[in-house]
Amino acid sequence: MIILKSQSEIARMKEAGKLLGQTFDFIKPYIVPGVSTLELDRLVEKFLRSHGARPSFKNYEGFRGSICASVNEVLIHGIPSSRVILKEGDILTIDMGDILHNYQGDAARTYPVGKVSDETARLIQATEEAFYNAMSKAVPGNHLFDISSAISETATKYGYELVKEYGGHGIGREMHEDPFIPNFGDPSMGRGPLLRAGMCIAIEPMLMQGTDAIINLNDGWGVASADGKLTCHYENTIVIEEDGPHITTVDENVKGHLLNVER
Ligand code: MG
Repeated sequence: MIILKSQSEIARMKEAGKLLGQTFDFIKPYIVPGVSTLELDRLVEKFLRSHGARPSFKNYEGFRGSICASVNEVLIHGIPSSRVILKEGDILTIDMGDILHNYQGDAARTYPVGKVSDETARLIQATEEAFYNAMSKAVPGNHLFDISSAISETATKYGYELVKEYGGHGIGREMHEDPFIPNFGDPSMGRGPLLRAGMCIAIEPMLMQGTDAIINLNDGWGVASADGKLTCHYENTIVIEEDGPHITTVDENVKGHLLNVER
């Protein structure tokens, strides 16, 4: 069942999202060669708690981090570790969520560590573009899988593969609510449920440089590309209102994108 949010709930969603956006702006300068993903995790947890929020990932189904820190071929659910030290040319995906006044934000960024190759930068660009193309379909009167199809169209345009096993989701008081949002279009699925004002969803395209095959890591959490090639993930929480989609998890990265599409 898709839970439509009231105006006061939407206001709470925006507060939680705003803090999460601020958390990305806070942590970004620390993402440099030599830092461990555990150090980043600690910094994020401290920042969120000092602002009255909780990291939603911590203890979620037993996960011990406050962030998922996924490096290079690791796609999602990387466990923060003192043994994972970032190197020049890596890419790091930080996926994180917060709970503030009982409502949640959920977002992910893939950051270059130092200088990355043009091909790596292109993968990040394509993944972010897939999100914004998908978000533009999140208007009342469209259907859920219009979002999925837009992700596919963008990945195809760039020649990347998409992860089929994971996707976006509704969000509110819970991190994962209905509906599940496939990260790829498939005409046989039809267009899916009608999108309505009051829906809150996280859209999170995941693109792969190689094939779409994934493997589970031995730590019981991490998911990586089977061929060892790079993977990329970008996510924001959005609220669908009468006038269209509004991102709650706004950081400097989002502001840069929105400048390009300002009506
Ligand atoms: Mg999510």
